[in-house]
Amino acid sequence: MIKRKRTKEVKIGKVGVGGDNPVRVQSMTNTPTADVKATVDQIKRLEEVGCEIIRVAVYDKESALAIEKIKKEIEIPVVADIHFDYKLALISMDSGVDGLRINPGNIGSEKKIEKVVEKAKKLSIPIRIGVNSGSVEKEILKKHQGPTPEALVESAVKNVKILEKFGFFDIKISIKSSSAVDTIKAYRLLSEKVDYPLHIGITEAGFGYRGIVKSSVGLGVLLFLGIGDTLRVSLTGDPVEEVLVAWEILRALGIRARGPEIISCPTCARTEIDVIKISKEIEEYLKGCEDVFTVAVMGCPVNGPGEAKEADIGLAGGKNMGVIFKGGKVVKKVKDLSNLVEEFKKELSSFVFEKFKKG
Ligand code: SF4
Repeated sequence: MIKRKRTKEVKIGKVGVGGDNPVRVQSMTNTPTADVKATVDQIKRLEEVGCEIIRVAVYDKESALAIEKIKKEIEIPVVADIHFDYKLALISMDSGVDGLRINPGNIGSEKKIEKVVEKAKKLSIPIRIGVNSGSVEKEILKKHQGPTPEALVESAVKNVKILEKFGFFDIKISIKSSSAVDTIKAYRLLSEKVDYPLHIGITEAGFGYRGIVKSSVGLGVLLFLGIGDTLRVSLTGDPVEEVLVAWEILRALGIRARGPEIISCPTCARTEIDVIKISKEIEEYLKGCEDVFTVAVMGCPVNGPGEAKEADIGLAGGKNMGVIFKGGKVVKKVKDLSNLVEEFKKELSSFVFEKFKKG
């Protein structure tokens, strides 16, 4: 059992982060924020796969004003990502944003920072200080000879102190690097210094399997160490994939789960049924299901039945047949292999109904 470091709680709208709250899954839209329809459509797709907080880039007045319309159409809280322009933070807050991501160090004079902080305090809007390797201040870079983990932490702490100076403590922090190792080192150092909730992520992780592996390794290690109150997997591509990967990272560590887990064997020369095709069909069939249970698809009677029995429901290949198990017991032997997937789907539906929907 992983013991998470206890941090303070902040509320992004109705969603608590840190404290006793579960590790939250978040993502960021990649549509133009001012295009309300495209942004709302994307957020709805993200909500469907379990995104709990959404961040939108706010880079001009139109995108700040769009937040009000976006929020009317969606369920999850919205965080505005702002660089340099304090006025955009003020407009976003007037538009009903639930959280800000802004670095006080890069929005200019104390007067401007004070205006943002005062409004955020009045409206109970938390601020995430988001340091990444590209945003570390010049003097800190010089001192550490580059964006080292120590430099990232120093920059974050400096920004935290600016907010604290104005009596603002509703803070979340992230310090992301595109190196998994540096990110791990930086968060470990930061976690020893502060009790604010930490938003973890590997920035610019890339796309496809490389990005997924880098994020999973970096975030997996941190979560295993008990560090991280909310995570964003940054992948080049559809943000829906980011959310799916985030949930699988949490599931693999036994932290949180959403939807069924399909356990399928890698297949080998003993394989009696088309495990690859069947697994894909079953995955497609279960898409959108939020109930948590395990489904096994195994290729042969050597290792198959054992694994299939461990799962809540399973299918194992046998000599010219498929064997379906539920709760460790054989419930059906299907001799007509052309019917196997359909029979298994029927058993899956009745299993889900009996276990989760009945009564
Ligand atoms: Fe091979 Fe059977 Fe193991 Fe699948 S379950 S990999 S078919 S031995």
